[in-house]
Amino acid sequence: MSHPLFDISGRTALVTGSSRGIGLALARGLAEAGCTVVLNGRDAERLERAAAELPGDRVHVAAFDVTDGPSVAAGIADVEDRVGPLDILVNNAGMQLRAPLLEFTDSDWHRILNTNLTSAFLVGREAARRMTERGHGKIVNICSLQSEVARPGIAPYAATKGALKMLTKGMCADWGPHGVQVNGLGPGYIETELTRPLVQDEEFSAWVRRRTPAGRWGRTEDLVGGVLFLVSPAADFVSGQVLYVDGGMTSVL
Ligand code: NAP
Repeated sequence: MSHPLFDISGRTALVTGSSRGIGLALARGLAEAGCTVVLNGRDAERLERAAAELPGDRVHVAAFDVTDGPSVAAGIADVEDRVGPLDILVNNAGMQLRAPLLEFTDSDWHRILNTNLTSAFLVGREAARRMTERGHGKIVNICSLQSEVARPGIAPYAATKGALKMLTKGMCADWGPHGVQVNGLGPGYIETELTRPLVQDEEFSAWVRRRTPAGRWGRTEDLVGGVLFLVSPAADFVSGQVLYVDGGMTSVL
């Protein structure tokens, strides 16, 4: 039997960007832990297919674009009406655009900022308006090892993830007094659609294995335990932290 400090059964959780990849794995983990789970993405059909893969009958979908303020406000209101008060929000939706900084276009800059950073502000604010009113809630922002370190060709991505780390601390400062804990989870190199070009590049892939003390790429399931901890009563006094789940990569040169 697991310790009661880790019991999150009966909670309601929204995971943004959960039609595939890390978000879907985190949603699956929350559902397996007994949560009612709401999947989000922009493609309603893909969301329905993803929901059908998850266990239990407490899985819902909410298709809205996390970069658009009015859609987010309507989306969160609709989720709370249809499913119930949100106890947990995982801000996971994100994207990568790889290009040398000198060639990076204005529109791509705004697109990646909107998707990786503004989305967490918009969805976080809308959820926290309700959570702070109720006096409790857990928010996890999916950061990255690039919240700490950069590589050539991904400066805008690193800028968004570094800023997301600081947004996490700012949310902790503003909403902590109202019973809402906000933390970040920073994945290392994880095999998903977002990293497919890197996984397929044998030279890069071998570099990741050499550079990671664990000696391998991460799997989406590797991230589940950290999120389950951060949204559980065991983490009621943990706020403003980023937990790196990266096989040790950020700790070594
Ligand atoms: P992914 O496989 O590309 O999945 C991204 C998800 O976000 C999809 O469900 C996508 O669905 C959704 N999404 C994208 N834009 C959206 C929008 N505007 N509104 C709503 N949903 C949107 O990515 P992933 O690898 O799982 O990454 C998930 C998160 O982990 C990201 O924040 C990423 O930066 C972070 N991360 C990943 C890695 C890694 O190695 N993979 C490492 C560190 C951090 P639709 O396209 O249907 O909307």
